[in-house]
Amino acid sequence: MSHPKQERTLVLIKPDGVQRSLIGEIIHRFERVGLKFLALKMIIPTKKQAENFYPSNEEWFLSVGNKTIKGYEAKGIKLDRSPLKQGKFVKKILVDFMTSGPIVAIVLQGNEAVKIVRKLVGSTEPLSSDVGTIRGDFNIDSYTMADVDQRAVRNLVHASESVNEAERELKCWFKEEKILRYNLVQDKILYDVNLDGIKE
Ligand code: ADP
Repeated sequence: MSHPKQERTLVLIKPDGVQRSLIGEIIHRFERVGLKFLALKMIIPTKKQAENFYPSNEEWFLSVGNKTIKGYEAKGIKLDRSPLKQGKFVKKILVDFMTSGPIVAIVLQGNEAVKIVRKLVGSTEPLSSDVGTIRGDFNIDSYTMADVDQRAVRNLVHASESVNEAERELKCWFKEEKILRYNLVQDKILYDVNLDGIKE
């Protein structure tokens, strides 16, 4: 098993994050928490890249579809689309969104990187994501408004959901040899076991 400090995750600053001039704000949060940047680039995704990036299996469609339906139920609204149909619809509108302009793709590394990043990012819908998270602090979008306009929720960032997903996703945007390996001075205080060499 690899050491926990080697866990990697993928973050995409979505087109709305770039258009809102929030690249610096968003990157700052990942940097100051102690994560290491292994790769970073700006791209305009093609339709093929975006379609390949978001999964096309039934499990993903159902998970995304059910999440939306639950969100509506919490507000007392009953959606008449099935979870599968809703999931497929979300994929279509997501691909449209992600190909609408430049995004920033980032590979981050650190202990529990996947969970740490998801915590900083907040839950899917900006309206209900916690204050203090990226989605809660910098956006006002909601499922209701996205649905009225038949478009994807604009929630500034994508963050991998699990370690396995992260490894699949980061390969969609980066060749392994473009993902850097290096030491940061701060790695010592985050991970070094003995901490000798600090005291004079
Ligand atoms: P997360 O990004 O929080 O992991 P999901 O994986 O469930 O969320 O969904 C992927 C993306 O699809 C979301 O970030 C959001 O932009 C969009 N999305 C999800 N559900 C809906 C919905 N019901 N309506 C519009 N867009 C949605």
